[in-house]
Amino acid sequence: MSATARGATAKKTVSELNLILLGPPGAGKGTQAERLQDDFHLPYIATGDILRSAVREGTQLGRQAKEYMDKGELMPDEVIVGVVLERIASDEARDGFLLDGFPRTAEQGRALDSALVDVGRRLTAALLIDVPDDEVVRRLSGRRVSVKSGRVYHVEFDPPKHEGRCDVDGSRLVQREDDKPETVRHRLEVYHRMTEPLIKHYEDKGILRRFDGARSATEVHDHIRATIATLRLEDEL
Ligand code: AMP
Repeated sequence: MSATARGATAKKTVSELNLILLGPPGAGKGTQAERLQDDFHLPYIATGDILRSAVREGTQLGRQAKEYMDKGELMPDEVIVGVVLERIASDEARDGFLLDGFPRTAEQGRALDSALVDVGRRLTAALLIDVPDDEVVRRLSGRRVSVKSGRVYHVEFDPPKHEGRCDVDGSRLVQREDDKPETVRHRLEVYHRMTEPLIKHYEDKGILRRFDGARSATEVHDHIRATIATLRLEDEL
């Protein structure tokens, strides 16, 4: 590659922030993503949210997804890969993206890598938020969601003012089918078996960054922000 071409590639990747959030269900990825979106104005691509909204809308994707989701199983790779790559290629994600819930298998990781390579892009970092299994079960099985507003509560850590009712609109709070304790345990088993191998993959590429998800959301956020600031500085050097 000529020096000019190298310069052009380097210049393109410097300004981009292509991030993925890794970690077990219930690690607080969604909470961190909300804050990082505010910090860096990145389009947030959360496959779980995309699939849940497809289920609500009753689209073909939603009908296909529901069965897998209710059981805590993963959707077939080729379906979810298509959904995500389309978003990454969209104009909205031109200057970067924040992926949550994808990739979740080695195959999805490979598909993402090669799609980015094809267009001269690369991942900036894989942010791993780690939390022990017991804590995941405690967090997820206490989670309740408002049927109308979608606001999330926790019976122990963030209870509503009136039991079983949303503070915002008074609608009913329900437990997500996949937050039932036996399904949570199955999701964890799927995470360890299917998703954890990706940690080594990103470690080998030198882009893995670890965060202690047992700490408060604010501490985790401060740590992630500082890490991203350092990565950006390194990129500019
Ligand atoms: P989440 O909210 O990220 O825990 O995702 C909820 C459910 O959506 C998962 O248990 C899977 O059934 C499905 N799902 C989300 N992301 C993926 C993915 N990358 N690959 C396969 N299935 C997924």
